[in-house]
Amino acid sequence: MPPRSLAGGRLVIASHNPGKVAEIGTLLAPFGIEVVSAGALGLAEPEETGTSFAANAELKARAAAAAAGLPALADDSGLAVSALSGDPGIYSARWAGPSKDFAVAMQAVHDRMGDAADRSARFVCALSVAWPDGETVTVEGTVDGTIVWPPRGGNGFGYDPFFLPGGGSLTFGEMEAGAKHAISHRADAFAKLVAACLG
Ligand code: IMP
Repeated sequence: MPPRSLAGGRLVIASHNPGKVAEIGTLLAPFGIEVVSAGALGLAEPEETGTSFAANAELKARAAAAAAGLPALADDSGLAVSALSGDPGIYSARWAGPSKDFAVAMQAVHDRMGDAADRSARFVCALSVAWPDGETVTVEGTVDGTIVWPPRGGNGFGYDPFFLPGGGSLTFGEMEAGAKHAISHRADAFAKLVAACLG
């Protein structure tokens, strides 16, 4: 049975980050979807106990859908470095420490990579939609690239300045927002979600 469609309804965004909620709201507006944030509904944030991006996205979406009685969308994303067996992975935010300093996180990745010949890495974004009865649709988007040192550019956020997407000459930190969003792991995941639930 194909998954249910989301078009034309209300959708909870299982995030307490207003920037993320606004960005997702803009992406979904053309489909007639009204978004409401988990924060605005006063929903608790579940602990991210999953061992994969998809598992964490799914548990956040399921918790929000069950609590709100509405379909809910959650995301989980991060950077997976080949020479570090996929680290920092689902711990990408945590590597920046309590002060959320991504210069520290990029330095830690660089130090641990040492002189490893394999400089490849990938950004991953898992998106999960859950309905109150527990049905879920989960998709994953990726963008492959390499780690460069030193970091370059002040655009974007997080690990953007030391990530060079495949085939390009600019890091995500040097790219204009539109150029990054055209090829990013988040764009890839949204395209897959649209095909699965909004097509
Ligand atoms: P979360 O999914 O909101 O927990 O984010 C995980 C972490 O992954 C973020 O704090 C960023 O450090 C990193 N990350 C996810 N997407 C990107 C991106 O597009 N650029 C840079 N860093 C990212």
